[in-house]
Amino acid sequence: MSDTKPEASAPRVNHIRWIGRIWSEKPALIAGLFFLTLLSSAVAVAYPYLGKLLLDLMQQLMEKPGSTDPMRDVDRLLLVFVAVGLGGLVASLFPGIRGVTNSIFEHAIRSKYWKKVLGKDHAFFSRFPSGDIVTRLTDDLYDFPKLSWFLCSGIFRAVESISKVAFCLAAMFLLDWRLTLFSLIPLPLMIGLFYVTQDRIYDTFQKNQQAISAINTRLEMSFSGVRIIKAYACEDKYKRFFSEVLHTRWTTEMAVARLEVVLHLIYQYIDYVAQVGIVFAGGLMAVKGKISIGTFYAFYTYLSMLIYPILDIPQLFVSGKRAFVNIDRLEELAAFPEPSAPAKPVPLGAIETISLDGVSFAYGDRPGNALSDLSLTIQRGERIGVIGPVGSGKSTLMKTLLGVLPPGSGTISVNGVDLRSVDLRSYRDKIGYVPQEALLFTGTLRENIDFGSDSPSDALFETAMEAAQLKDELRSFADGEKTAVGQRGVSLSGGQKQRMAIARAIAREPQFLLFDDITASLDAANEERLMRRLDELQVGLGFVIVSHRLSTLQYVDKVLYLEGGKARGFGTHDELLGQPWYRAFIEEHMGRYAQNGPGTQEAGTEPVPATVC
Ligand code: ADP
Ligand code: MG
Repeated sequence: MSDTKPEASAPRVNHIRWIGRIWSEKPALIAGLFFLTLLSSAVAVAYPYLGKLLLDLMQQLMEKPGSTDPMRDVDRLLLVFVAVGLGGLVASLFPGIRGVTNSIFEHAIRSKYWKKVLGKDHAFFSRFPSGDIVTRLTDDLYDFPKLSWFLCSGIFRAVESISKVAFCLAAMFLLDWRLTLFSLIPLPLMIGLFYVTQDRIYDTFQKNQQAISAINTRLEMSFSGVRIIKAYACEDKYKRFFSEVLHTRWTTEMAVARLEVVLHLIYQYIDYVAQVGIVFAGGLMAVKGKISIGTFYAFYTYLSMLIYPILDIPQLFVSGKRAFVNIDRLEELAAFPEPSAPAKPVPLGAIETISLDGVSFAYGDRPGNALSDLSLTIQRGERIGVIGPVGSGKSTLMKTLLGVLPPGSGTISVNGVDLRSVDLRSYRDKIGYVPQEALLFTGTLRENIDFGSDSPSDALFETAMEAAQLKDELRSFADGEKTAVGQRGVSLSGGQKQRMAIARAIAREPQFLLFDDITASLDAANEERLMRRLDELQVGLGFVIVSHRLSTLQYVDKVLYLEGGKARGFGTHDELLGQPWYRAFIEEHMGRYAQNGPGTQEAGTEPVPATVC
């Protein structure tokens, strides 16, 4: 799996600064939350103190009746109670606002990092499997105790706890400083424990998130490959693969739970022992008359009030450590180098020429070049056929021409301008690309075709459907253009999918088409109709077509023969036929049509051209 690399565990950013940046996007909300937090703590701490005042007043009245005007003091106390009660009412909004803010942050972070992911290139998507990306943008963000929970609820609960502890301690110091110091004994122990365990917490949680990523990657793979799994009847084998990743997740989740339970227990016991000590000491002082009953009551209440905040503060660090893992995983996505964009991209007019000059390309994880030192020029309206053995770099060349795979060395230039300085959008706007493996999005047939166009219209849709030879199919679908296609749509054959991809490319009204092997989707007669429509569609519509069918070569001006990523020949079909290796390839791999050769449409209708045999 991608993120098991050792560097994944190293923090990538200053986490506090990262949180500051996210917070700074919602300053009013954060300020409001701070205010409510402090108010809520102040109200909570005020109650025991009011209780003490009430008890002291009662004690005074019982011990020395008539020493004070009871009604005036009770009235005053009552007013204070009402004021504190109103404050409490406002503060009770606090948990609700925290919940809403969590969702706001979750949405903001997901949108931000999703945009970053969209800006990445092929290298990014080969490095991170899609299930892993999905986990980082979903599971890592929501719910307790993940990142967005931590950003608001986590931190503000801790602020509430810290302020409560601070207010309690202040009140306790006012009541009796010796008892207060005694109650501080467990604090250093708790902090020490956190420091000893923090690396363990980070690692355990990191492993848990990686396990979740692995499951999602497997899930994604099984759903997209479910037909193959069924066809090969290897459900059992797959179940075994799946149980492995599920088991890893179970183990890591148990490790997280174990760590949490043990830490929580230790924290609780430290606090418990301290509390028992304080009750004895405070009780003794009250009995000896060193402190009033009201003071003992307030002190005892503060102490029991302190337990949960004190237990909660280390939780902040624990959940913080987890959230930092989530931040690092997001930043790992963001930090992956973006494709370099020119500072001042040159907008492109009509494409006149596309030139490759000594272009080489290597896939990062593969030794050797997929394309080597390729040089050729394609003029406006020119039609190029690309042939060659499997793995010779035909698809790679198409993606390089599209500007998706930037060459490792050499240059691609359009109208004489290096593609690296060109505004890629304005270049790709003019290109219709039909990939070797057609992919349709979940949606209607019409949406899929319109996807290609900036200004879709009925006329354009009709034209595209007709050119791609899809008219008959359209009639056979019960829901017509509203037929659902894609992953959750009707079952389409590979050929139908690819013809839809052809229609999508034509709906772009491109100036240049890149067909990566459409042999399987169109028979020779349909191919001929498509070619005729392309002639009628637009003057000067050029294309590069990868093909395994000899008859395709009759529609192209020049043929590029690729072998091992190198251009072994580039010229007209007739010129190349002069080469024995070219003839041998045609006969061996395109033999089915070799009897006809280019210039003919149906097998056996034309005499065999002498040059082919
Ligand atoms: P063709 O389309 O001519 O069959 P490709 O352009 O698909 O050939 O592949 C050329 C070479 O690059 C092959 O050796 C292939 O294995 C390799 N290759 C293609 N795509 C990838 C990829 N995404 N990652 C790594 N290697 C790849
Ligand atoms: Mg290919």
